[in-house]
Amino acid sequence: MNDRIPGFGTLAVHAGAQPDPTTGARATPIYQTTSFVFNDADHAASLFGLQAFGNIYTRITNPTTAVLEERVAALEGGTAALAVASGHAAQLVVFQQLLQPGDEFIASRKLYGGSINQFSHAFKSFGWNVVWADPDDVASFERAVTPKTKAIFIESIANPAGSITDIEGVAAVARRAGVPLIVDNTLASPYLIRPIDHGADIVVHSLTKFLGGHGNSLGGIIVDAGTFDWSKDGKYPVLSEPRPEYHGIKLQETFGNFSFAIACRVLGLRDLGPALSPFNAFMIQTGIETLPLRMQKHSDNAKAVAEWLSAHPAVAAVNYAGLPNDKYHALARKYAPKGAGAVFTFSLKGGYDAGVSLVSNLKLFSHLANVGDTRSLVIHPASTTHSQLDDDAKTRSGAGPDVVRLSIGIEDKEDLIADLEQALSA
Ligand SMILES: *Cc1c(COP(=O)(O)O)cnc(C)c1O
Repeated sequence: MNDRIPGFGTLAVHAGAQPDPTTGARATPIYQTTSFVFNDADHAASLFGLQAFGNIYTRITNPTTAVLEERVAALEGGTAALAVASGHAAQLVVFQQLLQPGDEFIASRKLYGGSINQFSHAFKSFGWNVVWADPDDVASFERAVTPKTKAIFIESIANPAGSITDIEGVAAVARRAGVPLIVDNTLASPYLIRPIDHGADIVVHSLTKFLGGHGNSLGGIIVDAGTFDWSKDGKYPVLSEPRPEYHGIKLQETFGNFSFAIACRVLGLRDLGPALSPFNAFMIQTGIETLPLRMQKHSDNAKAVAEWLSAHPAVAAVNYAGLPNDKYHALARKYAPKGAGAVFTFSLKGGYDAGVSLVSNLKLFSHLANVGDTRSLVIHPASTTHSQLDDDAKTRSGAGPDVVRLSIGIEDKEDLIADLEQALSA
């Protein structure tokens, strides 16, 4: 053996996994069990006291889920990861370790709609106050910093329009403010962008989308970059102060560069409880084995469809960072040189009615509220996800009445274009 570092495609197949030590099973078995037998009383006590690593109960650890965690940590270049029940659960568990009631965090204004809701309503009810900034203006993050700021949150490729955020610019603001940068990397996946390489301290994913990749399982994950010093100024007592329920240990002092992932597990998952089912962990890690192949095809197909739409007489504009004349093209070349992802929007000259009619005439594209499936998906935000907003607010969030959002799948691009062609001329 040499000490060669495996490439991304090799890690996607192998990281975290080995033949099952008991049965020799080559694929990771689904350990569908709630609990694990202790060797003896001392072993049980040391597991509960965090003096030894091992399985107690599937709410906190599970061997199938552990393979998924190690694999995503390897693909993102982090020190450790924690899988949970959904992308939203990942965000909840992350912020619970960082914020006390009355604290603030700064978030990009361009986010997945569900995250805007979670931050504006549920988090507000916990006393965690979001302050919005404009991802196209890095200085707006700097201006939003106050002594109460505890974190900054952005998406690498932002929903719905597929715009690219200047991760390094925002990371520099976070460093000056002494707070961690959290990047939601769902739309890019680590195949297209690895935020930790650009200064992110924490990466979160909805595994439900491209990582699982087949539209069949919900999941979320938190990746710890191991880069942040939680103890330097007393801002993060959960990590720096003694934990009474764990014999007074301090998490960062004890677990060093993976202490954030440990905190999320032994406090967040333990107390909030959004554990991932081992069956979903199995489905998602099987999906990840083909991530590099799928993500390249998704991106290549999206570029071909975006180019075709740009030339169509019924189309007013296409927003895809992979197109050379797009506003975000320079950022796409810097951060996502292999491709700008599969999710983008375009607008129709015929406005709202044309959007509704396109969606109902498409046959191969599925009309639904998801992204990151092998299948191509379409939604008309103004008549669905954003229908509660007035026209002005719709337009500001990139979901004007004439806008259609696509998530391009891995079918043959000629078939996708033919479907759009028939629907636009219907
Ligand atoms: C879907 C999504 C989420 C939420 O994930 P769930 O798994 O649905 O809870 C968060 N961020 C982005 C960018 C998403 O697309």
